[in-house]
Amino acid sequence: MSSAYVRLRSALYRPWLMATLAAVACAALLLSASFGLVMHQVQQTEIEQMNARGDRFLDRLEQIFGQLRESVDLLNEQNLRGCGPAMTAALQQVGFDNRFVYDAVYNDGEQSCSSRPAEAGTLAMRAPDIKGPTYSYWLNTTTQPDDNLAALRLGRGPFSVSTSRGHLTDVVDLAPGGSLLVVLDKGKRAVPVLGPAQAWPPASDWPPPSQQPLLVTRDSLIYRMFTKSPDYQLVLIAPRTNLLPKMNAALWALFPGSLLLAGFVGWMVLELVHERRSLSNELQGALRRGELKVLYQPIFDLNSRRCVGAEALVRWRRPDGTLTSPDLFIPMAENTGQIREITDFVLQQLLEQLGQLLRANPHLYVSVNLAAVDVMVPRIGRVVARLLAQHRVSAHQIAFEVTERGLIDVVVARDNLQALRDVGHQVLIDDFGTGYCSLAYLQTLPVDCLKIDKAFIDALGHDAASSGVAPHIIRMAHALQLRVIAEGIELEAQALLLSSEGVNYGQGWLFAHPLNARQFSELVTRGRRLAGRRIDDEA
Ligand code: C2E
Ligand code: CA
Ligand code: CA
Repeated sequence: MSSAYVRLRSALYRPWLMATLAAVACAALLLSASFGLVMHQVQQTEIEQMNARGDRFLDRLEQIFGQLRESVDLLNEQNLRGCGPAMTAALQQVGFDNRFVYDAVYNDGEQSCSSRPAEAGTLAMRAPDIKGPTYSYWLNTTTQPDDNLAALRLGRGPFSVSTSRGHLTDVVDLAPGGSLLVVLDKGKRAVPVLGPAQAWPPASDWPPPSQQPLLVTRDSLIYRMFTKSPDYQLVLIAPRTNLLPKMNAALWALFPGSLLLAGFVGWMVLELVHERRSLSNELQGALRRGELKVLYQPIFDLNSRRCVGAEALVRWRRPDGTLTSPDLFIPMAENTGQIREITDFVLQQLLEQLGQLLRANPHLYVSVNLAAVDVMVPRIGRVVARLLAQHRVSAHQIAFEVTERGLIDVVVARDNLQALRDVGHQVLIDDFGTGYCSLAYLQTLPVDCLKIDKAFIDALGHDAASSGVAPHIIRMAHALQLRVIAEGIELEAQALLLSSEGVNYGQGWLFAHPLNARQFSELVTRGRRLAGRRIDDEA
């Protein structure tokens, strides 16, 4: 955590700013997520529609081609030749009997007649577009939007039959700008049977390697219909619709919801910050009115069970007698910067209350918890130096506890901690094992001692996965020639186990709760041996 980061954090600690930032971030997140979701859904629908359209087209084409083939085969089987009344009747009969046959034409090169004489097929006069072994095909390439014009004509011998555009389109609405193309010459040429001509090939890598019928490009959806004939293929092309208008409706539905939720988040943040703010105001008052107290939790030599020092712990007892947990107000004070005042207060109280005891017991020490902001600047060194000189206490009797969380900007922290050690203070790593300190990282830090977090002491002797952590930390500390203090020892069995693992020091309710200065002084001066006894917190 660099000092710039600390400054930024206190700059951001304004209720309205935080609430607005939270609301804006929330709105941005929700809206972009909704936008993405709606966009995805619209695209999915578009793709599904095209697939369905393609499937319906294919079904219809199979029906139509089946009927056209049957009709032209039937006409050929009747062995009629020349345009006479019998021919006209036969041609008209085919038209009546087959729903998809629009007209039937006879053309032997000399004579030609049709079931619809008024529209006598000009198509059948030109060479077929596709000439298969049995059937020939003519494609009507006109773009006139007349449903009654022939779109496909199939011929065999002198006979040909056609289907109208209407029969192709009555099952599917061709999307605006979309076309049905017949692809010829092994994919090189495409003739539109319905709809406008399309740029061909429709994609740079045509034909595509995949056998998937639907191909989605940036501008169009291309549905390939594989036919049994190697001579031609059918392709349905629809330009991709502009998604935005389609999305608008869905977005308008999501927009107010997102804004409402963002507003709610902003309001929650505001409430939370106000609550914290009021706690922070109360803390300011508490500091002024002297509601904060310092307690000392004794630290013992696990072998001799003698007290070797203490950890200073702050307490906030309100005028009505209720205690506010440091776990609640310390993190808040770290955010607001009030922690500096608390650290100074603890140091000042400790030297005022225990100065004499420390002078009389030169081996006794008291450790003080430092927050990240205390470690980031050299200020604390100056404060403690002034107090030590004033109370004539040696620097090695004051230790400092820093957590792994407080060591984010390791380079700055290392310099400040080294400066504290240079004048004789001890540096302890608190709550060891709960952060991310690795062995390699630890080696580079100027520390004297590791405090193993209570969580790992609790796990000792249990089958929990973390039960092996404490012995591991102990071995690691010994390898680095660091002392170890076990925190939160509540059971005799834990003390014995830790002692057998080579841990020399410990604190916890087994020995003593945090004590007030008088109780702690008594404990030290009487040199009470506390094995099996506990002194209660009387703050
Ligand atoms: P910490 O530094 O890990 O302090 C140890 C905590 O464990 C203390 O809680 C202590 O009362 C508690 N404890 C000790 N032995 C036992 C035990 O056997 N069983 C159980 N259940 N708990 C035990 P406390 O005093 O509530 O402090 C909580 C945290 O608040 C401290 O954790 C420390 O991070 C912070 N804190 C307390 N005083 C100060 C202070 O003066 N300055 C700063 N910066 N932080 C402080
Ligand atoms: Ca501590
Ligand atoms: Ca701790």
